[in-house]
Amino acid sequence: MDRFVNVAVPLPMRKLFTYRASSDHAVERGSRVIVPFGNKFYTGIVVELDVPPHPDAKPIAEVLDEQKPAIPPVLLDLTRWIADYYLCSWGEALAAALPRPLAPQSVVRVRIRRMPSEQEQRAMERRAPKRARLLTLLASHRSPVTIAHVERQLEAESITAQLEALEQAGYIELLTSIEGAQSPPVERAVQLSDELASSAQAFQRVLEELERRAPKQAQALVAIAQHTTEVRAPLRWKDAQRLASDGVLRALVARGYLVQSMIERSSHPEPPVESLAPEHNERELPLTDEQTHAVERIRQALEDGKPKTFLLHGVTGSGKTLVYIHAIATALEQGRTALVLVPEISLTPQLIDRFHRAFGEGVIAFHSRMSATERYTAWRAIRNGDARVVLGPRSALFAPLERVGIIIVDEEHDPSYKQESPAPRYHGRDAAVVRAHLEHAVAVLGSATPSLESMYNAGTGRYHLLELARRADGALLPTIRLVHVIEERKRGAMHGRFSRILLEAIIERVAKREGVILLHNRRGFAPRLECPECGYVPHCSTCSVALTYHKRTNQLRCHYCGRSYPVPDHCPQCGNPTLEAIGAGTQRIEDELDALLKQNGVSAVIARVDSDSTSPKGSLRKLLHDFASGRSDIIIGTQMIAKGLDIGRVTLVGVINADMQLYVPDFRAAERTFQLLTQVAGRAGRRSDRPGEVIIQTAHPDHTAIRCAAMYRYDLFYNDELQERREAHYPPFSRVVLVEFSGTDAALVEQHAQAFAHYMPRGIEAITPLGPARPSIERLESKYRRIVLVKGDRQLDPNGVELRRALLTAWSAYTQRYASSSVRVTIDVDTQSSL
Ligand code: ADP
Ligand code: ZN
Repeated sequence: MDRFVNVAVPLPMRKLFTYRASSDHAVERGSRVIVPFGNKFYTGIVVELDVPPHPDAKPIAEVLDEQKPAIPPVLLDLTRWIADYYLCSWGEALAAALPRPLAPQSVVRVRIRRMPSEQEQRAMERRAPKRARLLTLLASHRSPVTIAHVERQLEAESITAQLEALEQAGYIELLTSIEGAQSPPVERAVQLSDELASSAQAFQRVLEELERRAPKQAQALVAIAQHTTEVRAPLRWKDAQRLASDGVLRALVARGYLVQSMIERSSHPEPPVESLAPEHNERELPLTDEQTHAVERIRQALEDGKPKTFLLHGVTGSGKTLVYIHAIATALEQGRTALVLVPEISLTPQLIDRFHRAFGEGVIAFHSRMSATERYTAWRAIRNGDARVVLGPRSALFAPLERVGIIIVDEEHDPSYKQESPAPRYHGRDAAVVRAHLEHAVAVLGSATPSLESMYNAGTGRYHLLELARRADGALLPTIRLVHVIEERKRGAMHGRFSRILLEAIIERVAKREGVILLHNRRGFAPRLECPECGYVPHCSTCSVALTYHKRTNQLRCHYCGRSYPVPDHCPQCGNPTLEAIGAGTQRIEDELDALLKQNGVSAVIARVDSDSTSPKGSLRKLLHDFASGRSDIIIGTQMIAKGLDIGRVTLVGVINADMQLYVPDFRAAERTFQLLTQVAGRAGRRSDRPGEVIIQTAHPDHTAIRCAAMYRYDLFYNDELQERREAHYPPFSRVVLVEFSGTDAALVEQHAQAFAHYMPRGIEAITPLGPARPSIERLESKYRRIVLVKGDRQLDPNGVELRRALLTAWSAYTQRYASSSVRVTIDVDTQSSL
């Protein structure tokens, strides 16, 4: 008897689809299945069993999970919540939980079956020129090509209609295959032949013979026999090579004494060669009183077995990581597992090393530079129950760990926890709190600069506040000095972008062989070129932004779409022979400092750390390692260097321009500035024997964010900023939803945005729609953009139910009348983007 099941497919439709499962299909909730949809195949997830029969239901094509379903029940519930809250489909949310190789999809290719006669060709060119053009293009390809490829070549939005007509007329045929599936990575292994393994007599006979003729082979055979009988598993070829040479092994295989096989590759990542973790095991350090108290409260909650969320507010260097490590150890003792989320993990190799050192083998780390295969291998190891601690960026939230006891969200204020694109546009921190609830687990959100939202939640009792006010090993927080660059310039005490105060401090540290970190949150050489005669500024051809000048590669680059352009050798507008570099990025700061140090007779090694200098795998680790060990003296970097680094020899932190983020169009601009300054200041003086100093250059020393950061007054900043948010009705007092419209036709985009805004229900007190408005970057990758903001009051609508209902109402009215493939609409709930 066939069963009917509901499947979530990875498409933006917010509904489930019913399929037929035959009796030999062993499906469970959470199983991956390949299902036909339209003329394609997708990997969907079975989410409901035994639903009412549906007459048109198509059969499931294939069940991918015969044994354990890929998605455990908790992740079904979590993705369901994400779909509801962030207004995407369940299938889209589930797709985020599966590494790509686990979700094969069909790919449609097209090839020519027969060419039209000359007469037919001419007729087609007259009556259906698009079809004729497509056919000519296809004729130029020998093997089948994907539809996407053809669309790109023709620069067409869609060629579905033409393909259908050509297929019906018998000119072409469409071929569907399923791609992306991956079997587990394997490697070569050897073991004794069945005969030798089962008969001691046979083994003895062979051995005696070999000892006479080929003693090396005899030796190898004994060693391999020992191994394979002990562990009852084939021996990896790699390991066998330690026992005997390749030649000897091959000879044994050739004689049939050994047989080769392929086994699943071991999933434990090789530990890094140059560890950035401290030599000692941090777990053995005695905890400070504050740390002990925090660990006790978490332990208590773990023992109660009820979900609870803590906000761990600890100043930089207060030993939050050690609190995490002890709390995790408690969860592991209870036989439970731990999930640790960190911002963009490739940026924090040091933290990975610290966890490896503390917990050894059971730690599995995800990072953004892993290949699809590595990611998949890690996923399988977790699903097989091989991991006790999983560490990774926001997507690690979906790790298929079972019996999760604790979820840590380190640097919980970090904007990288919010996924911007594609859907699901979820916030990793908030979704982590939900997962912890579903698991009856404890969540610990840690930061030196908690987000306003989280601190507000601590104030209302939703979260429980734990504080670490002092640095762990008795070190003092570094003194912070504000340097007013405008005053200094008047006094003639600025050398380019360096104040004399900062320059002298740098020279002093270099002489003492202490480390210096300089923050400049903009990469490249200069943020724009400008013609001094006519004011012309080179812009990206597809985005409405000025191009950044990169001196090292002598290119202009768009920091939004990544396109690069040659540097013009004269102004294309007025012909003036030079363009001037305006403003400064890290490359220019590096050059200026280098020149200033030389002028002062100081020789120092400067390293630049930004996403331009660290792209190849592992080079960030090397740059940091060189700096930690004194091979370089000064690091100049973007916000990459502000996070989490714990390097003892750093005694000076300089901020070249603190005002850079202050006036961007973002209601979080002040908060981001406060956080960045506090975090980067925290890299200095982290050992009690080496006090630190921080010098912040600014033109706005009285700005609240800068003043409060310089005084270590999180509380002052929080109260002040909270007041502003209350008045402007921004989070935490409201939820902000960003609805974005984009397309190549500006007028159409405007019309669609107007329509959506028009369909937003009016007169609901909790909801305020705003716009449509032009975003600060109006055109991105050739697409014009318009935005509608919708604010939902948190007091009147605490769970956001009314807000979501209003958005869905507008959405369905809009799509009914305006559905079109030429305007793309995205909905970003709790947006973190600048507008
Ligand atoms: P945070 O994450 O709060 O900035 P870390 O966890 O990186 O701080 O700790 C800062 C430094 O203090 C680290 O080198 C850590 O090993 C050390 N540390 C933490 N706790 C203790 C302790 N109880 N005793 C001595 N050193 C400690
Ligand atoms: Zn661009």
